[in-house]
Amino acid sequence: MAADCVFCKIVAGEIPSTKVYEDEDCYAFADNNPQAPTHVLVVTKKHLTDIADAGGDPEAAAGLLAGIRGLAEQENLRDFRTVFNTGAGVGQTVFHVHAHVLAGRPMGWPPG
Ligand code: AMP
Ligand code: ZN
Repeated sequence: MAADCVFCKIVAGEIPSTKVYEDEDCYAFADNNPQAPTHVLVVTKKHLTDIADAGGDPEAAAGLLAGIRGLAEQENLRDFRTVFNTGAGVGQTVFHVHAHVLAGRPMGWPPG
């Protein structure tokens, strides 16, 4: 747990969240500023700053991918977009690795 990390506090239950899915390695909750009808954040229970950091921890990285799969299976998501922002320059605002899982509306490619 990192001090002053909002997502560590959500995992610890110190900040309320709308839980959608949980397993041994991950916790997933509704984004409070949803960009699609389904917008869930999947976070590692372990504090890692971003997906590049998680890539240096193969066990955590595998756990995160398994969490995305588990969420999708539980919620019957067949078509969904997964976004990892890495760095403030592309909009990362919370520096605890999280997958945005978005679904429920048409999404163009490339993203705007
Ligand atoms: P990013 O910009 O990729 O770092 O994404 C951070 C996301 O976390 C944003 O989509 C926020 O809406 C979301 N967020 C921040 N604080 C909370 C919170 N307390 N509960 C739910 N979602 C949050
Ligand atoms: Zn954290």
